Amino acid sequence: MAQLTDTTTKKGAEAAKAPDLRVAPPGPKAKDWIRRDAATISPSYTRSYGSVIERGEGCTVWDVDGNAFVDVSAGIAVCATGHCHPKVVKAIQDQAARLIHMSGTDFYYPSQIELAEKLTSLWPGAGSAKVFYGNSGAEAIEAGMKLARYHTGRPRYIAFRGGFHGRTFGALSLTASKAIQRKGFGPLLSGVTHLAFPDPYRDGTTEKSLSELEHVLDTIAPPEEVAAIVVEPIQGEGGYVIPPDGWFEAIAEVCKRHGILLFVDEVQSGMGRTGKMFAIEHTSVKPDLVALAKGIASGMPLGVLLARGDLMDWEPGAHASTFGGNPIACRAALATIELLESGLMENAREVGGYIRGRLESLMDEHEAIGDVRGRGLMIGAELVEDRQTKKRAKKLRNDIIVRCFEKGLLILGCGPNTIRWAPPLVIDRETADRALEIFENVLTEMAG
Ligand code: PLP
Repeated sequence: MAQLTDTTTKKGAEAAKAPDLRVAPPGPKAKDWIRRDAATISPSYTRSYGSVIERGEGCTVWDVDGNAFVDVSAGIAVCATGHCHPKVVKAIQDQAARLIHMSGTDFYYPSQIELAEKLTSLWPGAGSAKVFYGNSGAEAIEAGMKLARYHTGRPRYIAFRGGFHGRTFGALSLTASKAIQRKGFGPLLSGVTHLAFPDPYRDGTTEKSLSELEHVLDTIAPPEEVAAIVVEPIQGEGGYVIPPDGWFEAIAEVCKRHGILLFVDEVQSGMGRTGKMFAIEHTSVKPDLVALAKGIASGMPLGVLLARGDLMDWEPGAHASTFGGNPIACRAALATIELLESGLMENAREVGGYIRGRLESLMDEHEAIGDVRGRGLMIGAELVEDRQTKKRAKKLRNDIIVRCFEKGLLILGCGPNTIRWAPPLVIDRETADRALEIFENVLTEMAG
């Protein structure tokens, strides 16, 4: 496949040098911004370390002190096509010069319709699909929750512990990732029951999970009252956990039996990240609703609910969003999808397999890595205190992430003790090697 970073340009050559640290990060300018941020910005955000980013290209970002970092976080699994991909930038610039906003709530415009045609052509469910536009993952989830309730007339939902679906009230009612995200905000939406998510590394099996689901349907949530089961194909914030093979098919069968809708949250796992357009396509299951956001528009705010066409039976005025499906975001999404289809999904499979293989081989030397798992460029390395007890090495995970930053690698955690590899899908082996080298050095330094 074609080289993804053009090292012949000045910018490309600069990017190829990352990491390139001029001062120990956070440097003096970064510290000053962080001070100003603390004075004016909500303290509810969780910054793992002090990276103050000024510009980005591909898998490289530069901070305000001129330090170049290798970025395998992609702005939390968002910058699918890399930072500022020229084709995405051009699509944004062209659209911005023609029409910035009109509101799909009251008006029609081509970019919304063209994107809907593209997305529905990719629909992983049965039959045909329709699109609802919002601005974020949480909004896509809210739309799906409302539509599921509206269409079925049923009030309840089933979700999974460890799942993350956003922080608005409806979405937060499904989210069960970290207690701090719920603390102080209750009561949340009633009628949500959470089940254990089957984690094969921690003895999760399809059998146990199904028996818990049946038990809940028998004792707490009468199936004829359940509108939807809401689930991530791979738990993202929960720790990059992949359920056992066959589990989705078993859950889908229960849904079918009871007329429960299967609502798949692809906000993190979708848009090519796992090597297929949607992670649910690694199974044979046909979802009824799919939530998309994050990678869909390479960083422009866009959330999409894709739903089976016959489910979208709500009336004009039932649900809408002023900004949802903004023309610029739609053009960025169209450019993104074109890039995904013309090589980036393939690259996710190829380089993802390479990174995973290298992380797996680190397990020979480093006892602290308990498990490596993932699909495409959605890879988790779970850190444990020892492999027998599988006790979660939370502090070590957090310390490693900070140390990687100090050495020029932007990487994030997920779940209590997992390190997530979610680089832009343009990453090549050479860049991956530079990131892996830092990671391995830090692991050796901190965990032996
Ligand atoms: N669903 C999943 C699987 C996510 O990972 C996230 C965000 O991390 C969301 C929903 C919420 O998306 P947003 O932060 O855009 O509201």
